[in-house]
Amino acid sequence: MSPAKPLFERMALIGLGLLGSSLARVAKRDGLVGHIAGSTRSRETLERAFELGFLDSIHDSPVEVVEGADLIVLCAPVGANADIAEAMAPGLKKGAIVTDVGSVKQAVIRDVGPYLPEGVHLVPGHPVAGTENSGPDAGFAELFEDRYCILTPPPGTDEAAIEKVAELWRRAGSNVEIMDPHHHDRVLAITSHLPHLISYTIVGTASDLETQLMREAAEDSDIVRTREVIRYSAGGFRDFTRIAASPPEMWRDIFLNNRETVLEMLGRFTEDLTALQRAIRWGEGDKLHEWFTRTREIRRGVVEMRQAGSFNPVERKDDSEGT
Ligand code: NAP
Repeated sequence: MSPAKPLFERMALIGLGLLGSSLARVAKRDGLVGHIAGSTRSRETLERAFELGFLDSIHDSPVEVVEGADLIVLCAPVGANADIAEAMAPGLKKGAIVTDVGSVKQAVIRDVGPYLPEGVHLVPGHPVAGTENSGPDAGFAELFEDRYCILTPPPGTDEAAIEKVAELWRRAGSNVEIMDPHHHDRVLAITSHLPHLISYTIVGTASDLETQLMREAAEDSDIVRTREVIRYSAGGFRDFTRIAASPPEMWRDIFLNNRETVLEMLGRFTEDLTALQRAIRWGEGDKLHEWFTRTREIRRGVVEMRQAGSFNPVERKDDSEGT
């Protein structure tokens, strides 16, 4: 679509799931880079990604895919970064820029930085955009439009390298912010990591309760109870189930690599939850009303900043869940 000159001659992507394939799609659509080389863990994903048409070449290993690349983007779960960095390091050319899309940033600097040879620049990045879906089929070129992309370059990073990565994300449709990596991990712990942890928890808790209710009903032959958690999920539960469907491997790695900060946020959350629990117990309606009014305002702010996404409460026929 855009006739602008490519920003990079050759981009190497390692990891070809939702994020990697979305970046490849927008880069190909808009001519952001000259050549797109891809590599991933499994042969099956590699071949599928090539079949989908957003890659120019595919490679079996990190060291092969980075050969000749002036931009390398790490798009695997963050726990894989150290091994990938070690494996690709001998193939990196001088002046190349290594960036990533990982959801935690201090760990990326810790795990990747030590392996990069002199003259290779590290510009960590996090596009705050995604869905609960994964794999190369799940990606789409518009994923980054109107979303924020946070870059967290360590002190002393080459300014020209930061600007080139920033420009790539701007051309992909994002608003770019530069942030300290520690600050990033604290902010995202509360806006992203904790909501995922809460969703994973509540969906599991509800499912356990459902199992127990069904078991009790089976013992009492007068009552027939079936899948009530799913049946009545439109009461609010379904929004949690969407988040709780997010890729397990990716989220395992996020919690393990932002451990201290997530635990700190969990402490704060638990205090507030206990305060609300107490307000319910003592019938303190004013406290509850005040809290809910404040959070409603926050939702309005999210909508006004155009970060709310879309939500359609009406089900299409082919969306229905069967049993
Ligand atoms: P995804 O759809 O599950 O894709 C992950 C990809 O990484 C797959 O192609 C997988 O390969 C590959 N991979 C896993 N281990 C690997 C290894 N050791 N070496 C090479 N490739 C490996 O995940 P995603 O949503 O794209 O997430 C990728 C990164 O983006 C994560 O770091 C995540 O924190 C970050 N992120 C995700 C979101 C989101 O909403 N999903 C948003 C922002 C940032 P195989 O299929 O071959 O096994």
